[in-house]
Amino acid sequence: MVKETQLRITLKEEEQPDILVFKSALKLDIDKSDITGVKILRKSIDARKPKIFFNYKVAVYIKEPVPKNSEYTFNYKDVSKAKPIHIIGFGPAGMYAALRCIELGFKPIVLERGKNVQDRRRDLKAINQDHFVNEDSNYCFGEGGAGTYSDGKLYTRSLKRGDVRRIFENLVFHGATNQILVDAHPHIGTNKLPKVVQNIRETILNYGGEIHFETRVVDFTIKNNKIQAIQLQNGNEMMANRVIMATGHSARDIYYLLHKKEIALKAKSFAMGVRVEHPQHIIDRIQYHCSGERHELLPAASYGLVQQVNERGVYSFCMCPGGFIVPAATANGEVVVNGMSPSKRNNLYANSGIVVEINAEQDLRKYEQFGVLKGLEYQKNLEKLAFTAGGRSQVAPAQRLTDFVEGRLSNTLNDTSYQPGLNSAPLHSLLPKLIGSRLRKGFEAFGQKMKGYYTEEANIVGVESRTSSPVNIPRKDNLEHIEIEGLFPCGEGGGYAGGIVSAAMDGERCAEAAVVGL
Ligand code: FAD
Repeated sequence: MVKETQLRITLKEEEQPDILVFKSALKLDIDKSDITGVKILRKSIDARKPKIFFNYKVAVYIKEPVPKNSEYTFNYKDVSKAKPIHIIGFGPAGMYAALRCIELGFKPIVLERGKNVQDRRRDLKAINQDHFVNEDSNYCFGEGGAGTYSDGKLYTRSLKRGDVRRIFENLVFHGATNQILVDAHPHIGTNKLPKVVQNIRETILNYGGEIHFETRVVDFTIKNNKIQAIQLQNGNEMMANRVIMATGHSARDIYYLLHKKEIALKAKSFAMGVRVEHPQHIIDRIQYHCSGERHELLPAASYGLVQQVNERGVYSFCMCPGGFIVPAATANGEVVVNGMSPSKRNNLYANSGIVVEINAEQDLRKYEQFGVLKGLEYQKNLEKLAFTAGGRSQVAPAQRLTDFVEGRLSNTLNDTSYQPGLNSAPLHSLLPKLIGSRLRKGFEAFGQKMKGYYTEEANIVGVESRTSSPVNIPRKDNLEHIEIEGLFPCGEGGGYAGGIVSAAMDGERCAEAAVVGL
């Protein structure tokens, strides 16, 4: 017999071996010796009060063995001679589209402008140390896409868009730890992600798919509103009648190309702001109600904050406990920041994007001349501004949090995890009012919600501009572009995802749609 139950375990109890068996027996009023195993289904931390609990949802196996195998199977087939589906981009959307094609018996041919994970590292080093951005290989472009050198947070609100569990099981199948199947807020970590991505690559190649790195798509041939071929930067052409376009939200050349070819696009609301960085111990003390170090069983604390300011949401985005701020620009002449963390989240800093909702209809009137690309131009301008304010390198403009809110230049800045370095700049006056004044009010409100958050020990760093796509590539119910037959806009770049898991789910859905009628 199997019974599910909820357990609340204190920090002290958590240290005891067999505590889950002991507590399960007590809760279910059964003999401990009848329990053959306890499987954790869900684990979360309840730190709302000073006495902290771990909440467990468990399956208790009574007089029967605990099954080892997962209910998920991935039935990959040899597709070396199957009909092709072309996939542009090898981020989460492209990777999962390719895997799903293989399950469905079609051959994915992936075209990725960036390098494989190993070679990509050198380009990341060049950004951090030499301030040089390789425009095809950086924190956003390359094998695994923007999700590889990230925090690998797997939390998603898009539960209705697909089978989240299937995505997680597939990550575990490719080397992620089982822990992601039970944690309420799972994450993988930037040190573990490259191996998972590499394993996914090997599955695709082993089953007969193709992956072409350092292969940028620069044009499409379209006849009678049907996709016919893909042109590559190296001058080659590939005939293609089903193309999944999963190029992510930073591939601006793709938006420009589609616009030039008069292929329908739409302006989309998005969000921009700054990244705030606190010493991790400050966040730990606030969230865990402690005065010294956090308990060794507790992970680096995170937070999620939201405040409505003058009819726009101001909210935390991609919070990275125990992490690093990274330079996420995709071109020289711009500064963009984002965050990543190792699996142990054991760095000394907690960083998070704090962004303001930008309404494409109401907030970008001065950019109307750019039509559907107005949000993209606005985003680009802010990134150029950050580049200039930082000192025209990957050094980012920054200010102490309190100086930003109180409107004065910082004489000195706090230490930071951001490798290229920080330059003190008056972000309070440089940021457009639309963003700057809302951020200032937002930070004040956050200081009320989390006592100790509003502190001169925190820096804000500019700019956090790549939260989601400012452009939507419209598609029909069958996921094909509304005008172009055979073209399937996919993932974050199409405006259909906001994170690793939702992009992966959209990749699977696009693969299922693209093979129909082939
Ligand atoms: P992308 O991952 O952007 O992939 C697009 C791919 O297409 C890229 O590899 C690019 O090189 C390729 N490409 C672009 N143009 C072309 C072309 N013309 N020809 C060929 N290839 C092309 N999300 C989370 O859920 N959790 C996190 O913890 C998290 N942390 C992040 C940290 C950082 C530093 C960054 C930058 C992002 C983070 N994100 C996180 C966001 C997440 O990575 C993205 O939402 C996700 O990767 C989007 O997936 P995608 O496949 O749609 O696009």
